[in-house]
Amino acid sequence: MKEYYILTAKDFYDGLKEDKILGLRCKECGQITCPPLPTCQWCGSKDLEKTELSGMGEILTFTLIDVSPEGFEPHYIICMVKLDEGPTIMGRLDYDAEKATVKNERSQELIGMKVKASHVVLPADVYSGGEKIVPLFKAL
Ligand SMILES: [Zn+2]
Repeated sequence: MKEYYILTAKDFYDGLKEDKILGLRCKECGQITCPPLPTCQWCGSKDLEKTELSGMGEILTFTLIDVSPEGFEPHYIICMVKLDEGPTIMGRLDYDAEKATVKNERSQELIGMKVKASHVVLPADVYSGGEKIVPLFKAL
């Protein structure tokens, strides 16, 4: 019997611990789905295979978190990155948050910036069962 989940969330985060961005290549349409889903995010096919992505991409948009949720340090940047292989994923941006405020007219230079993924481990907070691993994007 064919395994239904080709790439689980655990697989994705285990890969992230090694700075690998894992995704799914669709055998029907050829597009990449990331983060993992049971079906192709583009055509809905279940005919998928695991693939390692480059981790390279560019920032589509970002937001500066000045007032953080309980358990998180304030002044960090969340960004949406369009990966070179097509899908868009969210992560943190390794960048001086002070330079990214709206008061700094150059902050919009972050849009379109080329980045590469690594990862950061965040401590457990009151709402989660343990530490969290999230993509951390660094400027190239
Ligand atoms: Zn597809």
